[in-house]
Amino acid sequence: MVTTPPGMPVTLLPGPPRTHGTSEPVVLERDRGTTGRTVGRHRGPLSRTDAMPTLGPLVDQHGRVHTDLRISVTDRCNLRCFYCMPEEGVPFLPRSEILSFEEIARVATVARGLGVTSLRLTGGEPLVRRGIVDLVGMLAEVGFDDLALTTNGTGLAALAPRLAEAGLQRVNISCDSLRPLRFAQIRRRGDLATVLEAMDAAESAGLSPIKVNVVVIAGANDDEILDFAAFARRTGRVVRFIEYMPLDAEGNWSRDDVVPGDRILAEIDTRWPIEALPGGSDPAPAERFRFRDGCGEVGVVASVTRPFCGTCNRLRLTAEGAVRNCLFSDDEISVRDVLRGGGGDEQVSDALRRAVWGKLPGHGINDPGFLRPVRSMSMIGG
Ligand code: SAM
Ligand code: SF4
Repeated sequence: MVTTPPGMPVTLLPGPPRTHGTSEPVVLERDRGTTGRTVGRHRGPLSRTDAMPTLGPLVDQHGRVHTDLRISVTDRCNLRCFYCMPEEGVPFLPRSEILSFEEIARVATVARGLGVTSLRLTGGEPLVRRGIVDLVGMLAEVGFDDLALTTNGTGLAALAPRLAEAGLQRVNISCDSLRPLRFAQIRRRGDLATVLEAMDAAESAGLSPIKVNVVVIAGANDDEILDFAAFARRTGRVVRFIEYMPLDAEGNWSRDDVVPGDRILAEIDTRWPIEALPGGSDPAPAERFRFRDGCGEVGVVASVTRPFCGTCNRLRLTAEGAVRNCLFSDDEISVRDVLRGGGGDEQVSDALRRAVWGKLPGHGINDPGFLRPVRSMSMIGG
């Protein structure tokens, strides 16, 4: 569902009216636009802005201040991880619908002015977007405290020095298995050796500390938890174990596939004792732990079994310019409509404020009535 600030044209996103989490239903008024796409304006939380502040930081109705912006620069990817994208027949957005670099930089600049200090580029695979180094340079000039990028690593080795030179500070690299055959089965394209080389190249370029994202899935790679812990100890890279979320495009996710963060930590702790890092989970989603013998760090992102919504400080911009306040919410505000409709910074700012203001207290993933979002991970930007 997409809504637009007052006075701006309204865009669409296909999808049924749905409830989200524990809050009241979002109501859609639907009609057909000239493009044939569904046009909707909802009366859910995003519409109630009477008490919304027009000054100060980006705050929601539950007092959470938002300082972290994730920008998806493309919905395209050169891999097809089974937990994220379908293997074949992926419908990609036409180029004209994707935000240009200038549009992205403009939203980022407005966000910076509203107190966003941390920016992460993602996708799809951000490194398949042509000219990504130029975009990094433009965003570095805006001046964020933290400028990072999440990548599958396949194209990183060649680009790492230029990305660092352009102002990128660090990278998160996804790698779900340390066994070449299994890596290929999970990611369905690409190979492990290239990704391991990319980690070395990123370190040589100064893009550290490197975080290695591992989506843990029961029966797929949960027998590698200790291998990854040993990898963290050996390399000094921060391995982050991520619980599998219902955001796969093929809709195969089941609760039985989720390996709880607590189980992951217990297994590691039994082999190599760990302790929580002070302030380790605030406000980042990963709870951080260090090995008691001083040999490195691991983290868990337990979005399913231990949601961290109470401290969530994140908002997202999708590749086609929809502002989303939660991975699991279908409520979106089209900032692209604002930009392309001639809106000024004030209207961009209003769109960001409204998106944040309408955020629900929790993602509701454990509620009986939870409906998985219409879009899958690569279309949102993880
Ligand atoms: N293509 C890049 C990559 O793979 O790192 C960036 C985009 S990807 C969507 C961002 C992160 O989301 C990756 O670490 C990926 O493993 C994770 N991810 C994708 N689908 C997921 C799912 N269903 N549950 C949990 N994490 C998921
Ligand atoms: Fe591509 Fe990243 Fe999704 Fe894998 S997780 S399919 S690499 S976007």
